[in-house]
This record gives sequence, C-alpha cells and structure tokens, in this order.
Amino acid sequence: MLVLSLMAAFAAHAATGPEFDAKRLSQDVKVLSSDEFEGRGPNTAGETKTVDYLVEQFKAAGLQPGGDLVKGKRGWTQNVPLGRFEIQGPVTLTLNDGKASQALKQGDDLAVRAAMNGSKLIDFKNAPLVFVGYGVTAPERHWDDFKGQDLKGKLAVVLINDPDFETGEGDFGGKAMTYYGRWTYKYEEMARRGALGTLIVHETAPAAYGWNTVKNSNTNVMYDIVRKKPGAVHAPMEAWIQRDLTVDLFKRAGLDFEALKKQAQTRDFKPVELKGITLSAKYAVDAQVINSKNVVARVVGAKAPNETVIYSGHWDHLGIGLPDAKGDKIYNGAIDNGTGIAALLELARAYGKAPAPARSVVFLAVTAEEKGLLGSEYYASNPVYPLATTVGVINMDALSARGVARDFTISGSAKLDLLDRLIAKGKDWDLSYTPDPTPEAGHFFRSDHFSFAKKGVPAVSFGSGNDWVEGGLAAGRKSKQDYVTANYHQPSDEWSADWSFAGMAHDLGLLYAVGRDLADSRDWPNWAKDAEFRAARDASAAQRK
Ligand SMILES: [Zn+2]
Repeated sequence: MLVLSLMAAFAAHAATGPEFDAKRLSQDVKVLSSDEFEGRGPNTAGETKTVDYLVEQFKAAGLQPGGDLVKGKRGWTQNVPLGRFEIQGPVTLTLNDGKASQALKQGDDLAVRAAMNGSKLIDFKNAPLVFVGYGVTAPERHWDDFKGQDLKGKLAVVLINDPDFETGEGDFGGKAMTYYGRWTYKYEEMARRGALGTLIVHETAPAAYGWNTVKNSNTNVMYDIVRKKPGAVHAPMEAWIQRDLTVDLFKRAGLDFEALKKQAQTRDFKPVELKGITLSAKYAVDAQVINSKNVVARVVGAKAPNETVIYSGHWDHLGIGLPDAKGDKIYNGAIDNGTGIAALLELARAYGKAPAPARSVVFLAVTAEEKGLLGSEYYASNPVYPLATTVGVINMDALSARGVARDFTISGSAKLDLLDRLIAKGKDWDLSYTPDPTPEAGHFFRSDHFSFAKKGVPAVSFGSGNDWVEGGLAAGRKSKQDYVTANYHQPSDEWSADWSFAGMAHDLGLLYAVGRDLADSRDWPNWAKDAEFRAARDASAAQRK
C-alpha cells in the first residue's frame, strides 16, 4: 500500500514535467563505467570512447553541437589543452637561520609542487620569509592582511582556512569555510601580489586532512589548464610546510607562533618578517602539454538565445592505475561520475523532446575534474558562451544510484538565489534541503560548479539526499559511508545490476523544473550580498539588462 500511494504521488508530479527513465540512467552508467572505457582518463583511448558516446547520445536527443567554432560551424567539443608538470631530479631545500644551514627534506619538511608558472628551473638563494597571517584580501569584509607589505622576492608564510575558523564566529561565516580559507586561494593571492612563493602552514584541523594527503597531492604530477599568463596565478614556488618546523622557525626568529596566529584572527594584524631566517631552493620541472576535450551540446533558446542556463558534470575519472587487492587496475568511476553524466544525458533527452525554452540551455560534460577541476576551469576561462549572460550552473557529481530520498543537498555551503529556488521547488518533489554537515571542509570549492562561482556565475553542485523513503537516514547514511570506504576513487567503483536509479529519476524532475523555469524567465539570480562571489557577478551587471 505504501508503495502504491508513493507511486501515485510521483505520478502526480510526473504530470507537471517530463519522465526520467531509470533504466536508461542505468544503461548509460553501465556503458560509461565498463572496462572498455578504461576508467575514462583524459588523453587516453578511454577519452575517445567516452566523447564519441556522449556525442552520439546528444545527437540522438536532438540537440545542437555547442562547442568550438570550426570553419564557422560549431562542433560537439571544446578543445582543452592541459599542462602536465613534474619535478625532475632532486629538490634541494636549504634553511639558514644566520648561524647555520640546514637541509630540508621534500615530502617530510616541505611538500613542494612542480612549478606551474612556466619556469623549467626554480633556483633562488636566501629568500626572506614573511608571515602574512591568513593571507586574506576581502574588501567586502573590510579585511586586508597585507597592509601594503611588499612580497617581491619573498616567501609568504600563510595559515590555512579563514580567520574565524578557530573561534567559530566572526566575519568569515564561522566554522564554514569561505573561499579565503582554501589553499588554492592562498596560492592565487600570493601570485597576484608577486611573491616569490607561498608556504602554507599545515595544521590538521583547519586543513581538514593530515600531512600525508598534503604530501601525496603536492609531490605528484601536477596539471593545470594552459594559460596565457601562468605567472598571474602561480608564484614560482608553491608549497606546504609542517607546523612543528614552522613553530621552531618562529622561535629562532624571536617570534611566538601561537601569539601571532591569535593576532592574525583580527583586522589589526600586520605581516611580520621572520628576521634572520631564509630559504634557498633548487629543482627542475618538466612541462608537457596534453590535449583533452569538453563535450558541449545545446538547445538554442527561442527568444533570448544569447542567455544560457548550464547543466554540467565531469565525464573523466582516474583511468588505469595501481591495481587493488584483486588485481583490478581499471578505475571505472561508475558513481564518480558515470551517474552525473547519465543524469546530464537524461536531462538533455527531456529538453530535446520539449518545446525550445526562451533562453538557451547548454549541457556541458567537462574533462579533468579529477586533476583539479580543469575542464570546467578551462571553460570558465575560455567560455564558449559569455559568462555575464550565463544565468546559472547546475552541476552533478557522484549521485546516488539507489532509491528515492526525501531530501537533497549541495556540495558545501553557500548563499545564493539558485539554492533558494532548489529549496522552494523541492517541495513539489517532496525533497527537503539538508545542508552539508561539514561546511568547514570546504566542499563548495571542490566540484566543477566552483570554476564558475569564482567568476561570479551563480552555481551549485546538486547532491543526492541520504534520507531514503525506504530505510530512512540509517540506510542512506550507511550506503554513503560504504561507498566512501569501499569504492570512492577505487577500482571497485563499478556498476551494479542491483541499482534501481529510482532516486536519480525522481531528483531529475526537480533539476529539470528549476533549470526550465530559469530558461523560460527573465530572472537573473545572484549571490547573497555578503557572498565572496557577489562582487565578481555585479561587475558585469551592465551586460544583463
Ligand atoms: Zn566527481
């Protein structure tokens, strides 16, 4: 009986929008995550298969090619050149405190990334160290940690997270991490200020992960999009430094780390040089360019074709890598992100069947998310359709393939009209909003919607809820936890015939409705007044009349 009445409820909703087919969702995930697709690594045979499959499906859905212009005609893809950077040979790091020199060890004392500023060799001697607190310039919060400090030729020593993380209250959203807290922001801000380098002090709680994660992700091969001016976003040296070593360096310079960290939590903080302490470094970098592709399909708007609503998801996964205990070395990525791509295709099919909306709708399957959100970063830096008139972005990454939930979430925390619209419309689908339980971990900055958000475009990553209609929170949370421990980023993230895909089919009704409403309206949703991306959006307001 319960099942019957639920079916009736869903049928009532289906009358207000298109049907989404759980069987097709399953089939798409099955194909994309099959061993034949080799884990969908960018610039591999798996990429060719994936791109071909997506183009075929978008064509069958009746969409238009929405990618790069080739001889005056749009193709189905956007070329994404990626830089691949690897340290060659030893990393020589020498500390000097005025009395003695001390060799530091790559990976143990510091975790230095391969330089991505275009240099083949990083080689400097006796660079001074300056502690810049949290390294934040936030005009909308009347906050400036630099106070005019010149960083040319100097290494900035900076704290991770934002100034109110420790106290839990203040101008940076309390425990929740603003973008000023993220390590990418620290690197970018020091590059903007012309610093020689950045040393981020590793502390486990504010970083949300241990030194091993820092070490593994920074001393590995690095990737970036190919940029016209790489030095504008990458200082020559980008590194993390161990906390205990930092405390010791402060001591040798006659400074108290904890006291200065307290000061850094206030507006009055001023940068402090670590007098007498210098660092020398020498390491070579091998830089190559590889080519990958974003797939771009489009429904052309009937009234305002130059205004665009975007649905997105990343098609790539980890490819072929180290074998697991069973000897399996194909990282199939069924959930991550076969599900998001299947959802994107199913939404495209619905739009392909419906009358054209007033505005254009773009279906963007991006590459190289797993290498640092690079396909979306490339699109947002080289937009095929202007960002100023891009209404909003709904991204989908690693959705649940199981049953229907009573709730949904988004990655991280943010204040924007687009989320308010999801919450309001969610009521029609019996989906309530459950906020990210750990906003301090900065999940908002770790999915593809963020590449758009930092350029001011209202953007969220939709997430499946855990409060299942059958089994409730206990079942939903267990399933999520099992996935994280047993399958996430492992060869065992594989398609299963047991997956019903009923939840995704249900949630897509909501995502269609919110996107469709935007595409048929004249509205320009924005960020909340105190959101860090509001200023970037408002700067292009004149282009949205
Ligand atoms: Zn993903």
